[in-house]
Amino acid sequence: MAQTKPIRGRFAPSPSGRMHLGNLFAALLAWLDVRSLGGEMLLRMEDLDPDRCKPEYTLQLADDLRWLGLDWDLGWQEGTDEYCQSRRTDFYAEAFRKLEAEGLVYPCYCSRKELLAASAPHASDGARVYSGRCRHLSAQEKAALEQSGRKPAWRITVPEEEIAFVDGNFGPQSEVLRRDCGDFILRRSDGVYAYQLAVTADDGAMGVNRVVRGWDLLSSTPRQIWLMEKLGYEPPAYCHVPLLCSPDGRRLSKRDRDLDMGVLRRQTTPEKLTGFLAYTAGLMDRPEAVKPWELVKGFSWDKVGRADRVVEEVL
Ligand code: GLU
Repeated sequence: MAQTKPIRGRFAPSPSGRMHLGNLFAALLAWLDVRSLGGEMLLRMEDLDPDRCKPEYTLQLADDLRWLGLDWDLGWQEGTDEYCQSRRTDFYAEAFRKLEAEGLVYPCYCSRKELLAASAPHASDGARVYSGRCRHLSAQEKAALEQSGRKPAWRITVPEEEIAFVDGNFGPQSEVLRRDCGDFILRRSDGVYAYQLAVTADDGAMGVNRVVRGWDLLSSTPRQIWLMEKLGYEPPAYCHVPLLCSPDGRRLSKRDRDLDMGVLRRQTTPEKLTGFLAYTAGLMDRPEAVKPWELVKGFSWDKVGRADRVVEEVL
């Protein structure tokens, strides 16, 4: 009998500050998605950026998830750093070499200013599409740039091909990578592997087959699906979730200290906060105290929908 793979979702937070309400909202939905399917949850710390991520945030993050009642079955545990991206550089280097061996990777020497000149804003969201300026540099031109002391970033050549997928919440999506995204960075000029490479290689290697996260990452998904295939993995199913905004229309961010977990934990209980998040998600008619497990049975993406939510007051 063919063995079916377990359903596996993940939390993949960046320990670059205390979690805020919006992070928690996405985490609850990711947890409910996987638990409602009888699957297992993995926790991975995306601490690649050494300037922004700190070990104390990692510990706090895990503690905040546990406080709310969001558990995980595998991945990060206190005292080990196996599931911290900052410790997985050798693995990303291997993935990088695999793509390089296919002739897809090239050094890009563009400065910030040159990048602006060498990219066009994409009509739909204003993100800039790199023209591929450094893709065709000759060996001599590269040598000259190296000699001038410039450290390159490393980009991958994307195809003309259309990448289409059906998002579990946002429906059919598609992107022509060459037109809509352009050659993207796999490794920064300071040597740090880029999010797109690390997240893809990790989701693939860790057997993740359900990715639930904020829709601000929806436009990264075609890149990740394409990279997955290049690295020999089967892409997961993706479900993107609405974002929480403040009344003036800004997305909640780690700068909104008033809605961070430090403040919330002093003001409320896990059950009340879960109730508030479930109500905000459309999973309850009123914000009543509830435990995450009590929401599993009634969970459905139809109730959640796509509209961002404005959060005025939590409690
Ligand atoms: N680490 C990313 C973040 O915290 C999320 C990555 C992902 O879910 O793909 O924004």
